[in-house]
Amino acid sequence: LTSRLPQVGTTIFSTMSALAQQHGAVNLGQGFPDFDCDPALIEAVHTAMLAGHNQYPQMTGVPVLREAIAAKLAALYGHSYNADSEITVTAGATQAIFTAILALVHPGDEVIILEPCYDSYAPNIELAGGVVKRVPLDTQTFRPDFNRIQAAIGPRTRAIVINTPHNPSGTVWSESEMQCLTALLRDTAVWVISDEVYEHMVFDRAAHQSVARFPELAARSVIVSSFGKTYHVTGWKVGYVAAPAPLTREFRKVHQFNVFTVNTPMQHGIARYMQSPQPYLDLPAFYQRKRDLFRAGLAGTRLRMLPCEGSYFQCVDISEVEAFAQAGRQGDQAFCEWLTTEIGVAAIPLSAFSSPAQGMLATQNIVRFCFAKQDATLTRALQSLRDL
Ligand code: PMP
Ligand code: GLN
Repeated sequence: LTSRLPQVGTTIFSTMSALAQQHGAVNLGQGFPDFDCDPALIEAVHTAMLAGHNQYPQMTGVPVLREAIAAKLAALYGHSYNADSEITVTAGATQAIFTAILALVHPGDEVIILEPCYDSYAPNIELAGGVVKRVPLDTQTFRPDFNRIQAAIGPRTRAIVINTPHNPSGTVWSESEMQCLTALLRDTAVWVISDEVYEHMVFDRAAHQSVARFPELAARSVIVSSFGKTYHVTGWKVGYVAAPAPLTREFRKVHQFNVFTVNTPMQHGIARYMQSPQPYLDLPAFYQRKRDLFRAGLAGTRLRMLPCEGSYFQCVDISEVEAFAQAGRQGDQAFCEWLTTEIGVAAIPLSAFSSPAQGMLATQNIVRFCFAKQDATLTRALQSLRDL
């Protein structure tokens, strides 16, 4: 058997969650909440099931949900997507990104990714027969370096994948960075796949810079988002894609043979829930408070915190942790294993978000914690971390 992905093993998220469980560690690794969603959302799904919404929905998603998504995008970002021809409901963001890449990338095309980044992008491009062009983010700030991006664009460049708020660093792109991207792509034929799954988790009164706010960018972009993040239901795997009609047509050609469609009652339930008074507007304050609680606890340790402008991830530099150095270990991966097994808290090494060459350079001393947890869970983790 010749592997299509010879370099790939089990994802770091599954590996660290399993290790955390095995050692009874507090799991601040894999990004998911340890609290439940609003019961009203569950009731809405239950009601949809009892009302008989249990067979295949339309291939593109149920109309009421597509309309609710279009209304949200118009209200928040001022761009009117047509619910029939420009919005598609997907089985989470992971499927949306993969399907978008399969639909856009021809064998031999180059696709730019900005490392570190979410771990599915590069394998998706490879499976589509594309060539991954890895451009590092600035190694100190994790902000985009437009000179490097420009230098990576060539005649075979088909697309660039961007992600703000950013997993893993928590960086949020500014309006001027979006304008730089707009200018840089102006005379190219490069599509943008914009991973906006953390769109509602932006802190300190900053605004999420969706590509939908920038008409020139929106015209060349596939926006991807996920209800799993927004409504604390990562296990439901429902997300969506918004893209101009010609892009959506190509997206749907692949989507129909990939999943065909997405489970019906969840779609109806989410659509109904979206009619309640804008439930996503509470999220920045909700997660900012958790970020601040977690950061206040980390302040007394030798873990040096990086800024966290958005997402539900806090990164720390581990270079000053003497107990780890004394244990004779090195590197972010070993640190996360040690932290899980010896200290009782699981985290994710940042090198998992880069190719081995880049990972060694930029991120070997940085690890990521997820603070989408009950206050009691964060407090328990901080108790274990306080002596570091
Ligand atoms: N993109 C990023 C940046 C993510 O962090 C995640 C969550 N793991 C996803 C995509 C996938 O989202 P979903 O669970 O909806 O597939
Ligand atoms: N997005 C989450 C993270 O970055 C979980 C991803 C996954 O488990 N595949 O931790």
